Amino acid sequence: MGEVPESHPRFASLMARKKLTEAAAAGLLADSALIAHGRGEAFDYLLQERTCDAARQAIRVCATSLASAKNPVISVNGNTVALAGPELLACAAVLECPIEVNIYYRTPERMAALLNKLAEQKIEAGQKYPDLVTKIEAINILGDAPDARIPNLEGPRANCHHDGIFSSDVILVPLEDGDRCEALVAMGKTVCVIDLNPLSRTAKMASVTIVDELTRCIPILLDQLRKGVDSSISNWDNQSNLKQVMAEMLRVLD
Ligand code: ATP
Repeated sequence: MGEVPESHPRFASLMARKKLTEAAAAGLLADSALIAHGRGEAFDYLLQERTCDAARQAIRVCATSLASAKNPVISVNGNTVALAGPELLACAAVLECPIEVNIYYRTPERMAALLNKLAEQKIEAGQKYPDLVTKIEAINILGDAPDARIPNLEGPRANCHHDGIFSSDVILVPLEDGDRCEALVAMGKTVCVIDLNPLSRTAKMASVTIVDELTRCIPILLDQLRKGVDSSISNWDNQSNLKQVMAEMLRVLD
């Protein structure tokens, strides 16, 4: 991919594809991971690959929810680690919260590969965000020894850490699936998701839905987290925000 100049109109998209194909080759992803990414790309065209105002508002609400949480946690899967692991480590460092690996198709090999990748990414994140290096090193990476289960969810994806996802009050789960999102909401958690598809079950179920591309929105989220709680935020209406995003997507037809 070295031959693609940064000015290329598809640069960000091509880099994301490169990261994902490399991650797939390294055993970090499930077979369906590239299909899931493709569905996201299609919706991103409708947003003209830009972070819309409604998404910016959702990012602010997400940051404030996380920053004011008692036990915040960031839950990651293979695509998330491959696309934005270092940036999410920086978010966790600002929040001083754990990151927990939770994957739909759980195998010991994939779990080990993802945990190793995050350990490597701590070094990369420390170089990219030198002011956070000590906090990045201190992040607790969970997922290897789950000792609790998410109620009303079948299969190994319900496995989680008591000191991570299980006890969290606010959880950021980029690229979640609908069932698990519903189960986390039913546990009484504030569930913040990032999903380019405003029509997905996840987008509709979540407490705060950021309809934006993961790699584009995480740096904005990080900036917001560094600013801390925004006390001007109140009365979040997620359904109304989703409608604004859909109106934005339809504007592409004008
Ligand atoms: P649901 O169960 O919520 O209806 P789904 O079955 O459509 O969801 P999955 O296939 O589990 O969802 O996950 C893919 C979702 O992640 C898609 O909705 C897609 O829009 C979104 N997605 C994929 N890649 C990205 C990305 N880079 N940034 C943001 N969203 C993404």
